[in-house]
Amino acid sequence: MSTRTPLMAGNWKMNLDWKQGLALVEELGDQLKGVSTDTVEVAVLPPFVDLRTVQMVVEADKLPITYGSQDVSAHESGAYTGEVSGSMLKALGATYTTVGHSERRQHHAETEEVTNAKVKASFAAGLVPILCVGEPLEERQAGKHVEYTLAQLTGGIEGLDAEQAKQIVIAYEPVWAIGTGEVATPDDAQEVCSAIRDALRGLYGNEVADAARVLYGGSVKSSNVVELMGKEDVDGALVGGASLKAEEFAKIAGFQ
Ligand code: PGA
Repeated sequence: MSTRTPLMAGNWKMNLDWKQGLALVEELGDQLKGVSTDTVEVAVLPPFVDLRTVQMVVEADKLPITYGSQDVSAHESGAYTGEVSGSMLKALGATYTTVGHSERRQHHAETEEVTNAKVKASFAAGLVPILCVGEPLEERQAGKHVEYTLAQLTGGIEGLDAEQAKQIVIAYEPVWAIGTGEVATPDDAQEVCSAIRDALRGLYGNEVADAARVLYGGSVKSSNVVELMGKEDVDGALVGGASLKAEEFAKIAGFQ
């Protein structure tokens, strides 16, 4: 495990309306009472429509939870029907926004140019992007998973300065492990997470590479998180399905 503060981020995806989101965040607050949040950061990434509710509960109950969105517009404001800007999210107290999740790349045709524009828009609004990268099964079977993932990384972070690169969170999420119950082995996760860090080192130097957090995502549960977190370059997890149950997500957060 690294010296960077681990980040456990729950990606709710398109689940939970605001009332269900309210119940989950309240229960998570209760469950986290047994977890030392000095040594781990716990974040939730609800649908846009739940963010105001999450903000109110977190602020009212002073919960040790940060939060953010699952996507952000590449544009600042104006005639972009259906979009939500980084500054709107910032005004809701959001810390993070996910960018380039494989489900957005797959179902919404998000290219490297789009993810790069969203990463830049996030920083411009004062949000920290969680840039998701990771290979589909065919690329892994062809032994090209590192190359494929690093191409998404370099495309996504192009043009960032060192200060931004230091803050960014990269989530390595192999597509074949997302929502399938088939988790990458800790060695698989380490291989790609360390390649991501080496790429950051090559581009920005040691200070950035040692500061940036690299998460693993894909079928993370309380039963496999300890082994994954035992790896040197795995600084946390992006958790989908298992983040929808407060007790299970709190167990993941309390892995130490
Ligand atoms: P999962 O999703 O934990 O349900 O596999 C992870 C993700 O897509 O972020």
